[in-house]
This record gives sequence, C-alpha cells and structure tokens, in this order.
Amino acid sequence: MATIYHDEDASLETLEGLTLAIVGYGNQGRSQALNLRDSGCDVVVGNIDDDYRRTAIADGFEPVEIDEACRRADVIFLLTPDEVMPEVYEACVAPQLEPGNTLVFAHGYNVGFGLIEPPAGVDVIMVAPRMIGAGVRETFESGEGFPSFIGVHQDATGRARERLLALCKAVGSLRAGCIDMPFVDEATLDLFTEQAFGPAFGSIMRAAVETLTGAGFPPEAVLLELYLSGEFAYSLEKGRQMGMRQQHQLHSHTSQYGTITRAPRFFDLMPAASEAMGQVLEEIRSGAFAREWSSDREAKLELLRKAHEAAAAAPQSRWEDATRRAFRIGDASGS
Ligand code: NDP
Repeated sequence: MATIYHDEDASLETLEGLTLAIVGYGNQGRSQALNLRDSGCDVVVGNIDDDYRRTAIADGFEPVEIDEACRRADVIFLLTPDEVMPEVYEACVAPQLEPGNTLVFAHGYNVGFGLIEPPAGVDVIMVAPRMIGAGVRETFESGEGFPSFIGVHQDATGRARERLLALCKAVGSLRAGCIDMPFVDEATLDLFTEQAFGPAFGSIMRAAVETLTGAGFPPEAVLLELYLSGEFAYSLEKGRQMGMRQQHQLHSHTSQYGTITRAPRFFDLMPAASEAMGQVLEEIRSGAFAREWSSDREAKLELLRKAHEAAAAAPQSRWEDATRRAFRIGDASGS
C-alpha cells in the first residue's frame, strides 16, 4: 500500500527562519510562491527579466536574478520548464548551493532520469502537484488543497522528510493528501498518462467523431454530444466524487442497459491497446524517451510546431471553433 500523508503529519514550525527561493515565476512558480507566502514563509522570487518578473512585482514580490535568489535561500524550488532546467541548474543554481540546502522539484523527470545530479550534502525532495498551476492557487484559496506525489531522493541532513512534509503543508497540498514515491515513479506515471492514456483516449474520440460525421450527423451536434456540452466532463467529476460505479446510477436505465450490454463489443480493443501501452511504458522506464527528448531539441521543437499547425488545420478544429462560438463556450463566449 502507498504511504499517504495529511495535514496532521506536518508542522510549519520546521520552516521558521528559512528563506525559500522560487526559481521561475510561471504556472507553478506563481501559485506556489503566493501559497507559501500566505502560509507565513519568507519567499524570494528569482526570474529572468520578462513578463513573469513583472507579474511577480505586481504580486508584491521583489524578484532578483536566479543566482541571487539561490544564494539567499535555504530551500530552492526549481520551477522552470523541465527541458531548460538542466542548463538553468548548472549555470545559476549549482554554483550557489551550500551543504544543508534543500532542492525541491515539482516533477521527478530531471533527477529520475539522471539529467540533473545534485551534489552530496544537499537534501533533494519532490512536491509534484497533480494539478495545473492555476488550480494550485485556486484550491489553496478555497481551502480544498490539491494532491501531490512526493518523495525524498537524497537526505543529507537527516531532516529531509520533515522539511518535505512542512513544505507540502505550507503550499496547501497536505490538505488533500500526498502519496510518497520515488522520483522516477512520479515521472513515469506522468509520462505514461501523456504518452499512452491520453493518445489512446484521443484515438477513441476520433473514431467516434469519424463514425458519426461519416453517418451524416452534423459535426456541431457530434462534438456537443461527445464532449463540448460538458456532460462527459461532469460525469467524470461525479465519478471522482462518488466513484465510477456509483455515478453510473445517475444515468437513465436506458443509458445503463445500453452501456452494459454493448461494452463487451469493445473488449477486443484492449489487447492491442495494452500492447502499445506496454511499449510506451518500457521506453519511458528504460530512459529511451528522456534520451530522445534531450537530443536535437531544435528539431523536436520544429516537429511540435508543425504538429500544432496540422492539428489547427484539421476539420475537427474548425468544427470545434464553430460549435464553441455558436454555443458561447469558454473563450468563445465573449464574456
Ligand atoms: P512555465 O512554462 O510556466 O515556466 C516557468 C518559468 O520558467 C517562467 O517564469 C519562465 O519564463 C521561466 N523560464 C523559461 N525558460 C527559462 C530559462 N531558459 N531560464 C530561466 N527561466 C526560464 O513552467 P511550469 O510552471 O509549467 O513548470 C514548472 C515545473 O512544474 C516543471 O517541473 C513542471 O513539470 C512542473 N509541473 C507543472 C505543472 C503544470 O500544470 N504546468 C503541473 C505539475 C508540475 P519565460 O517563459 O519568460 O522564459
């Protein structure tokens, strides 16, 4: 069984007298900095001179250069994008580290796959939110908190876990609960969801769109039926709150009967999906994906750019835009 921690497992007193540096005032950096400050922590923001730095000033911080923030801090949160983190770490963070400092990662990727190797003498811990940056702040303010995967990679001081739990409490994550695991497991679960579960789900969605539009149904009606109405997302949220089996009871008897009797027709898809998922998992675990993504970055970014262009030109994007405008959904609402 996993070890799960809650608010009563930590004390904020552990953080008294410590200075916390937030390196990178982006999605996670901003929300975590605000939460930590609201919990009474002494926070210094380190960011390059860009719009994020101006946001930090507007939020009442006095941002400094990254190396200066690291020099002042006892605890350093590395919150730049993962792909630039090794170079930011080498250039600005590592030269400022002193024995007894704590490095905090929000994703196990760089340490888990050996792209950053912190020196002996510093604690290396992970608080990896299962929540996007905006949600980290919103759930802190609402009091609900957000779950995280957490871990200790290196305990140089003998107090790494105590400090980890106190930071989880201060940032608002222990209110929801935190699961302990090695860095590489957190990174593997995250990458698997992105590289296997997400794409497999996307393929099923595409098959449904093609089946229904091919049968002559208007694309707007198809997209609204499948996901744009919000009914599907609502059912998933109910599944989260009540359990998937229990949320089924919220649907009509016709719906329940149809789902249960037709489900076996799709069981045949599972062996092929499991095999492809297994291959993806193996590439992640062996480090092959991390090596692939670290090499020839410019070519990879060009590939991403072309993939986004192709997706934007695909019929489903046009149908989606038209439907969102027609039903005033999200950004298209004009509100
Ligand atoms: P962002 O993309 O929001 O960027 C964070 C900050 O890093 C920005 O201020 C950005 O400024 C700065 N930055 C970018 N490049 C450089 C550079 N070369 N040198 C110095 N600063 C730079 O990152 P996220 O908040 O999305 O991710 C931070 C960490 O949190 C990652 O480890 C990620 O895996 C993790 N995480 C993210 C989640 C999310 O939902 N976003 C969820 C859970 C974990 P600028 O862009 O102006 O360069």
